[in-house]
Amino acid sequence: MSARPVTVVTGGSRGIGAATCLRLAANGHDLALGYTRDAAAAEAVAERVRAAGARCVTVRGDVSEECAVERLFDITGAELGRVTGLVNNAGVTGPLGRLADARTEDLRRVVEVNLLGYLLCCRRAARDMAEADGGAIVNVSSTAATLGSPGEYVHYAATKAAVDALTVGLAKELGPDGIRVNAVAPGIIETDMHAAMGDPDRPAKAAAGIPLGRPGRPDEIAGAIAWLLSPDASYTTGTVLRVSGGR
Ligand code: NAP
Repeated sequence: MSARPVTVVTGGSRGIGAATCLRLAANGHDLALGYTRDAAAAEAVAERVRAAGARCVTVRGDVSEECAVERLFDITGAELGRVTGLVNNAGVTGPLGRLADARTEDLRRVVEVNLLGYLLCCRRAARDMAEADGGAIVNVSSTAATLGSPGEYVHYAATKAAVDALTVGLAKELGPDGIRVNAVAPGIIETDMHAAMGDPDRPAKAAAGIPLGRPGRPDEIAGAIAWLLSPDASYTTGTVLRVSGGR
């Protein structure tokens, strides 16, 4: 492994991904920050990462496209060195609602970004890390995987349950190569995602049903991700760490 870890964070321009980039920079990682749409937001996070003393490249690309994922890892390797970490974080939900009312294009998009995108990134990371001295992958799942999210987005919940299965299986597959694979399952976290799904007040409305009495903050998920990537988690693989305020 290189002296400083080199970690790819997909969806690093906002929310949980942005908080994770800042936390990992503070922990001594060099970073590749992936995003699709908002170059200015990605560059603003990258500037804060560099101000913390880390190297950072920003790479635009849709994780559901094989060529974009290959380009993300190619640029990371060329600019920063061997990839030793992956945070599979870029995800979408589509609009809130019942499955009976969902549009096929929204179902397809959620499966392609949340599942195919995670698989493509894991596959490339497995290839790169096996050539190095191992590494660590953290997949950002969701408590939706076990709650099912009826009336909101059962299709999204299904992709996150698949991410949990991917995590367990890939951990067993890659353990002998020295590659650890874990997941973090956040509960309701204050990010732009809720406005994008059509209900910006969703975190506040959910607070009464959360044992700790409030939604989470992105930095509270970033801390769990950073721990799973760190040497402190050297014997932890194949686990799904729930970070949800007790929900
Ligand atoms: P967010 O604020 O909506 O940010 C999403 C990020 O992903 C942005 O950086 C976005 O980039 C990027 N992105 C979206 N589609 C992409 C694609 N196809 N290819 C590459 N990048 C893409 O989301 P968040 O709330 O931080 O969620 C992050 C992860 O946590 C997701 O996997 C989500 O399912 C999971 N999660 C969130 C919550 C929650 O309550 N917020 C709860 C449980 C799990 P652009 O802005 O450039 O498009």
